[in-house]
Amino acid sequence: MLSAHALELAQTLVRMNTVSQNSNLELIHFVRDHLARLGVTSRITYNADRSKANLFATLGEGKPAGVILSGHTDTVPWDGQDWQHDPLGGTVADGRLYGRGSADMKGFIALALAQAEAFLNADAPFALHYAFSFDEEVGCFGVRELIADLRDAGIRPLACIVGEPTNMVPAIAHKGVYRYKCCVRGKEAHSSLTPHSVNAIEMAARVVGRVRDMAERFEREEPRFEGFDVPFSTASVGQFHGGIADNVVPRDAEFRYEFRDLPTADAAAMQAEVVQYARSLEPGMQRVAAGTGFRFDTICEIPSFLGSAEAPVTRLAQRLAGEAGTTLVAFGTEAGLFKQAGIPTVVCGPGSIQQAHQPDEYVSLEQLARCEAFLRGLAASREIG
Ligand SMILES: [Zn+2]
Repeated sequence: MLSAHALELAQTLVRMNTVSQNSNLELIHFVRDHLARLGVTSRITYNADRSKANLFATLGEGKPAGVILSGHTDTVPWDGQDWQHDPLGGTVADGRLYGRGSADMKGFIALALAQAEAFLNADAPFALHYAFSFDEEVGCFGVRELIADLRDAGIRPLACIVGEPTNMVPAIAHKGVYRYKCCVRGKEAHSSLTPHSVNAIEMAARVVGRVRDMAERFEREEPRFEGFDVPFSTASVGQFHGGIADNVVPRDAEFRYEFRDLPTADAAAMQAEVVQYARSLEPGMQRVAAGTGFRFDTICEIPSFLGSAEAPVTRLAQRLAGEAGTTLVAFGTEAGLFKQAGIPTVVCGPGSIQQAHQPDEYVSLEQLARCEAFLRGLAASREIG
């Protein structure tokens, strides 16, 4: 049975509007104040204009560094979605908690917070840490500040559990998500005078074609990583804009594309291949008009994640969740960034990604109760593993 205290906290967090484009400070301050009443000091790291923040807190100050419970505080928006429940209502019905962020992933944050007193009173030989970030949904931006702050402060946690919704099955791998924007500058002309022009759409299309060729090559040649729905890396173009009229050779074109690379692939090499190909087209463009060419901007780079079924943190999660196996997930998380920082990591949290980002997002109370039992077990753990 889920405790009333934990459910109430989850409802409180769901009722705060923390869509990524908004400030998350209401939630961060709420958590900070909640912990302060228990005598726990939070480390807060802000974004550039201080409208958003991460919170990192250690329960068991003075003990050796221990296990991070990681969650992002922001949510995706619900514009244009058809909801039966209020996205900010935190309504409980049919054995479910409804609301934006209930599964992804305020339920987990609330459960972690609800266990704060138990963690403080536990005689676990290691500390527990909370790492609650901003701007995960738009590219895992906030957690990078948090991880840098830990490094600068010499805090070296032993392990990290990212509470993204996995139905409480420990997940040990996901693909990366790398998104880029390519802006093409050509030279406009009346369309009867094409030799004096550089057609930005046509140049963009050549690079788009290269992205497509790469996608086909991954499908044909890449060593398979079994367990993923698509067991090879993917590449795709998501947006393309260009041109102003039928009789004007377009000066500008712009497209956006992404790679979802296997944990065993090299996303940097993929992007380098695209850039290199674009650069090879530039001399021909610039022979017609100086100042033409390609510009690439990074939208987000979320590294893939590959944990280990044998890692102590994975075994710990399996034991606490009562799960013998592990799984892979199809979505990106902050796990790859924690792993890159040298912290063994596993992804395990309540609810299903099927409900995340959807209208009438919910997490079942049964899943929340399972996660609460998991966290109670963590408080009682004598070792990591
Ligand atoms: Zn999430």
